[in-house]
Amino acid sequence: MAYDGAAGNNDVLKQALDEAALLPDKPLAEHLWETYRRSYIQDDETLDNIRHELKLLITNMQQDMDRSGGTLQGYSARLGQFLTVLGASTSLRDMQIEVKRVIDDTRAAEQSHRQFEAQISQISGELESLRNELMQVKQASLTDSLTGISNRGAFDIHLEQALDFAQQGRSSLCLLLADIDYFKKINDSYGHLVGDKVLRYVAATLKRCLKGSDFVARFGGEEFAVLLPDTDIHGAYAVAEKIRQAICSGRLKDMNSGKAYSTVTISIGVAESAGDDRPRDLIDRADRMLYQAKSGGRNRCEKAA
Ligand code: GH3
Ligand code: MG
Ligand code: MG
Repeated sequence: MAYDGAAGNNDVLKQALDEAALLPDKPLAEHLWETYRRSYIQDDETLDNIRHELKLLITNMQQDMDRSGGTLQGYSARLGQFLTVLGASTSLRDMQIEVKRVIDDTRAAEQSHRQFEAQISQISGELESLRNELMQVKQASLTDSLTGISNRGAFDIHLEQALDFAQQGRSSLCLLLADIDYFKKINDSYGHLVGDKVLRYVAATLKRCLKGSDFVARFGGEEFAVLLPDTDIHGAYAVAEKIRQAICSGRLKDMNSGKAYSTVTISIGVAESAGDDRPRDLIDRADRMLYQAKSGGRNRCEKAA
């Protein structure tokens, strides 16, 4: 996270790091932690462990720095003393004794410096693995655990960014809202586990039908959302039709009996962004089209005029 902030990848974090620099009385670990809570959605237990590890790491690092600083201060005092001895008319024997002391202290300082370097490199490795853990927590908080695709939270973030991007670049952005037809009946007839299997099948089929910059998420229970950047309403309708056909032409079977379940179909509402749309407006238009597809008989796509 500190990396994201320093690299400027996240404005909130960058601001927080700047604040941390202005508030030296607040421990850095504490400050980073609060910022993390504000910035990312989280799994509290894992994050509390990471918080504990981070605090321990930074406390140890501070102690090491203090110790190493102490050694260097002693060494600097020794050098000062040596200069004084050199400035005075001292006997050869006293000079020899003083030179030996300086050599010993230099070795000790060198040794302590080497230890400190090794500690720093170890700490840097530990920080890197904590950073990876945080990335994993962040990733998990944006993923739907049943289907493995993005969840609603990730969709909301992505929609806002994609809409800004389209409005600034005056390009078109389309949204598809897809809803599985009579899904309650699938659950009722075959059980929830089969219902879950159908959800995974639909998610996987959606992914297969999309390309690079397209974005798919589980929007709610049995609803999915797809964002198509740089795509006009006609192109989006064609993608929706391709998805609809792919879903209803697949056959899901019972693993044990080999018997096919009834055909899965979806209905899709398609809408294109307008220049002054807020995310809610685009969702509402796609939702109205979805409603129209449902009332028009299901297993169909409808696009906004
Ligand atoms: P329609 O064609 O009008 O969309 O009818 P429908 O039956 O699909 O819609 P309805 O809203 O009546 O039912 C949706 C069902 O989806 C109800 C709910 O129990 C089920 N559902 C939501 N989330 C999950 C889930 O994660 N797993 C399973 N198995 N079912 C779920
Ligand atoms: Mg629904
Ligand atoms: Mg449904």
